[in-house]
Formats: sequence, C-alpha cells, structure tokens
Amino acid sequence: MTDGFRVGLGFDFHPFGQDRRLMLGGVRIPHPLGLRGHSDADALLHAVIDALLGAAGLRDIGTWFPDTDPAYRDSSSRVLLEKAYEQVRDRGFAVVNLDITVLAEAPRIQPHVGAMKANLARLLSVETGRIGLKATTMEGCGPIGRGEGIAVQAVVLLVRSKREA
Ligand code: MG
Repeated sequence: MTDGFRVGLGFDFHPFGQDRRLMLGGVRIPHPLGLRGHSDADALLHAVIDALLGAAGLRDIGTWFPDTDPAYRDSSSRVLLEKAYEQVRDRGFAVVNLDITVLAEAPRIQPHVGAMKANLARLLSVETGRIGLKATTMEGCGPIGRGEGIAVQAVVLLVRSKREA
C-alpha cells in the first residue's frame, strides 16, 4: 500500500520585466512589473506543474511544453497545468495535498492567497483545505531580495487512485 504514494518537488524562478502582466497562481496581481517568460510566466503554476510531473515520473515542464514551441507563447499556465494534470491522472494518480512557498520581496502575496487557492482547487479537483500557500521575503538579500524576480517552491503528494493503464 505504501507503493501507492508519490511525492514531487517543483521549483521555478522568473525575472521581472517591463510591459508584462504579473500572473501568479492564475491570478492577475496589480504591480508595476510582470514576470518575463515564454508563456504567461506564472512561476507558481510552473512550480506546481513540475511537482506533479516529478511525482508521477514524467520528466518536467520544459519537456512537455518547450519554450521553443510557438504554441505556448504567452499561453495561460492554467491551461498547461490542466494538460499536465491530465497526464498525471491518465497514469492513475490523484493529488492528496500540496504545499507552496512563494519567495518574493514584492508585491504582497497574502491578499491574493484565497483566489490562488480557489484556482488550484478547481484545476486539481481538490478542496482548498488540501492546499498550503504562503509567502516569504528574502530580507533584502540576493536577486529575489533586490526585487529582480520571484521564485516558487512546491511539493505535492499523489496517491494511486487506479491501476496504471
Ligand atoms: Mg517557468
């Protein structure tokens, strides 16, 4: 029975850039700068995607959604998460819980946690009580502390809900 559980770790970082909307956890956050990237650069959803794929032994986000593919240019990371979780579910796994830490000097994440959790709950078909989401600053140190970008860590636990196809 212990073979039925899989843990996965995800990490992502995107630098801030001009003329970009800031998307985090599928939420548009009002901020003078957005994150630069090929897709909408939603580092939170990207970290969750990599945690899911890692737990299921399915390589990583860059393998499934290459940044050389014009199909994913400016694409919504919500769509990428849906596609990634579809692959995970096809292999018989479902999310037990996930826990996320956002590393950002600014903006404040707390006012948006409820909306982010609601997005994740809907996309992953889990209740919000199974989602941990918190933020910390880097106390002014390093590139994140200087406000050059945002990093996100995510850990997810999967359980095998049916036999592997
Ligand atoms: Mg990314």
